[in-house]
Amino acid sequence: MKVAIYVRVSTDEQAKEGFSIPAQRERLRAFCASQGWEIVQEYIEEGWSAKDLDRPQMQRLLKDIKKGNIDIVLVYRLDRLTRSVLDLYLLLQTFEKYNVAFRSATEVYDTSTAMGRLFITLVAALAQWERENLAERVKFGIEQMIDEGKKPGGHSPYGYKFDKDFNCTIIEEEADVVRMIYRMYCDGYGYRSIADRLNELMVKPRIAKEWNHNSVRDILTNDIYIGTYRWGDKVVPNNHPPIISETLFKKAQKEKEKRGVDRKRVGKFLFTGLLQCGNCGGHKMQGHFDKREQKTYYRCTKCHRITNEKNILEPLLDEIQLLITSKEYFMSKFSDRYDQQEVVDVSALTKELEKIKRQKEKWYDLYMDDRNPIPKEELFAKINELNKKEEEIYSKLSEVEEDKEPVEEKYNRLSKMIDFKQQFEQANDFTKKELLFSIFEKIVIYREKGKLKKITLDYTLK
Ligand SMILES: [Zn+2]
Repeated sequence: MKVAIYVRVSTDEQAKEGFSIPAQRERLRAFCASQGWEIVQEYIEEGWSAKDLDRPQMQRLLKDIKKGNIDIVLVYRLDRLTRSVLDLYLLLQTFEKYNVAFRSATEVYDTSTAMGRLFITLVAALAQWERENLAERVKFGIEQMIDEGKKPGGHSPYGYKFDKDFNCTIIEEEADVVRMIYRMYCDGYGYRSIADRLNELMVKPRIAKEWNHNSVRDILTNDIYIGTYRWGDKVVPNNHPPIISETLFKKAQKEKEKRGVDRKRVGKFLFTGLLQCGNCGGHKMQGHFDKREQKTYYRCTKCHRITNEKNILEPLLDEIQLLITSKEYFMSKFSDRYDQQEVVDVSALTKELEKIKRQKEKWYDLYMDDRNPIPKEELFAKINELNKKEEEIYSKLSEVEEDKEPVEEKYNRLSKMIDFKQQFEQANDFTKKELLFSIFEKIVIYREKGKLKKITLDYTLK
């Protein structure tokens, strides 16, 4: 057995006992003697940290491995070789390629055994994970902060339980509520009507007596539910198991943005933000309440035509009932309107994703190139850049999924509201508004001059 021993101390470690070059070397020599191995080469790296593989003796070792001069690489401890899982993975791959086993004198990593190969599999999985989260995770590991004696405090967020060692468990009943909140929100319900619904179902929040606008909003905006942990200004993605998918989370944020921008739901009138005047080309109509007559009406902001709420609501409710109960009617109105949407080339985007993946692999290879390795900083920069591109494509793809809801699906969604009319009549004002907003994107009304009740409705579904 031709054995190479690799010894390393960093500048900080030189002062520490037991880590000195002579101490490590002696231990390794004794180990080889006990196994009956011959040391063919010693690689002594003095004053180098393990932050990357760009060290003179490491590079010499890799060269000799490729020449086939070595059967086993022996180190005092794994972290002498590297402290990065990714580097370790790349090293182990090289070792395997040239039939070199790897041993640690103080630990049980023996890659010539089945157990050792399992270890490599684990390292590979970890390295994959490290790749995906490279820049951020390496910089701000929660574990590292805990090692430094700084522990995040406070309550566990709804849906989770973090114990004192910061291990995380999902509380399934609560997680179901979180999922329900996200789905309802994306289906068009607002904070308040979600809270109402939860209270009706007797679902209790953790501390407060009841759900309200704020507690629902807090859940909908907290990325802890996709596994991100925030602590002060530190952000750690993939810190714990997610409760909802990233796609659903993004969808909810987009929805929130959309609702925030047009502030549709702020007005107290049922149709404010939804209603447009068709007589003058789609101008907003504003709600007013006539105290003397105890009537709500809407006035066009341009042509000032006035229409009573009752005169809109009655035909609208009938229309909704018809849309829900008759698929034929629904299809006759919409089958041509929603199927003519622009087709986005999904396969081109998918191909682009594959290309980015290959580019990433190429950069990792360049980083491992023993003749002319690129520095780690450059690798990080390139990978980050590619990650950004990847992110853009993913968001394009998720938009496609959202926008291309086929007309059939639209109908299925609507047809589930079979008891709409009854629900609407029993609901409070807020919920009424939410119900309308969950169905319509906008409603345009046309009215002939002088004929108060003769109203034609035109509308766009959500
Ligand atoms: Zn008008």
